[in-house]
Amino acid sequence: LSDKFAQKYKDDFPILNQQINGKDLIYFDNAATTQKPESVLDAVDNYNRTINANPHRGAHTLSIRATEAYENAREKVKDFINAEKSEEIIFTRNTTESLNLLANSMEALVEEGDEILISVLEHHSNILPWQQLAERKNLKLKYLYPDQNYRIQLSELREKLSEKTKILSISQMSNVSGVINPVKEMIELAHQNDALVVVDGAQGAPHLKTDVRALDADFYAFSGHKMLAPMGIGVLYGKKALLEELPPFLKGGGMIEYVKEQDSTYAPLPEKFEAGTPNVEGAVGLQAAIEYLEDIGLDKIKEHELELTEYALEKMGELDYVEIAGPTDLEDRGGIISFNLRDIHSHDLATIVDSEGIAIRSGHHCAQPLMKFYQLNSTGRISFYLYNTKAEVDKFIESLDKVREVFGYGS
Ligand code: PMP
Repeated sequence: LSDKFAQKYKDDFPILNQQINGKDLIYFDNAATTQKPESVLDAVDNYNRTINANPHRGAHTLSIRATEAYENAREKVKDFINAEKSEEIIFTRNTTESLNLLANSMEALVEEGDEILISVLEHHSNILPWQQLAERKNLKLKYLYPDQNYRIQLSELREKLSEKTKILSISQMSNVSGVINPVKEMIELAHQNDALVVVDGAQGAPHLKTDVRALDADFYAFSGHKMLAPMGIGVLYGKKALLEELPPFLKGGGMIEYVKEQDSTYAPLPEKFEAGTPNVEGAVGLQAAIEYLEDIGLDKIKEHELELTEYALEKMGELDYVEIAGPTDLEDRGGIISFNLRDIHSHDLATIVDSEGIAIRSGHHCAQPLMKFYQLNSTGRISFYLYNTKAEVDKFIESLDKVREVFGYGS
């Protein structure tokens, strides 16, 4: 079932039909960025060939069409995460910008001595903005830690929440271990404690059917490029009342109501948070990507990814020199596996499998506190999406033996 499913869709992705270093490309770096199907490439191309104009600013026909294209994309994103209102969808460049926007604007909601809670598993983009806010306002930045099985328990959250906790910012899925956090329950607990919750959905939105209203998330951030859309388009969802309360982050054209010499008033949502000329072609591409994913169904894609994960974990488990840096069960996890080959640096591993046409990630995955916590210098990482197959996993497993041979270990 698995390979039949993937083969059918793989043909939609022209980039995957090529050889790298003389071998058929196997793309296993989907947690870093994903590839684009024809429908996304066509939507962007068509927009640029027939519509491109600066939206919101002109009365001419192309400008009106560009505005429509941009706003249609916003509607699509709204429905995709089941937000209530389209003004709650702010377009940004990526998850990083969405989180920076929040950490800057939320300064208005915190006071000296307040606490911000994040986890040690976070991506740097969900750490640095909060570190800086904590420094600016003299707040305490506290961390949640996982248990031996790589999971953050709700008891850990209960313990760390205090009367002073104003913000909890947590990832939906770890980009290193693939663990899915119990964000719904975490949000409930944080809300009982009157804290606001920011969800980093960079690895969640592409793979997990997400309903921000069912989660009751206050803010939710994600990136288009990790879900088949172009780079340079991201999303920040926020509850309308909260977004209205927050001051803008970037200032300039497109986000004002009136500008006088000494002061100005701001446009209503969502423009208040969208200063400058927006990435309309990116938004158009994101809309096409969402349509493509919804046609297949995120549930089906997740099932496929888990099948591949189970298969890869089983095959890797048979190799005594492979050390998995994450859970080996399938409970609450997505299609990401971090690992090491004993006595071989992950950069060497990645370079050697690349010579076999296999693209994997190596390094610290922008999660140095996590690496330190697990006493790892670096790991290799494979991450799956709808177009990957078991046959590709087989080739990857074969390539691991080759890596060992290059280093003279034999297989
Ligand atoms: N959070 C997580 C969990 C991620 O995996 C990533 C991307 N690796 C980011 C945030 C940052 O995303 P971007 O680089 O698109 O801003």
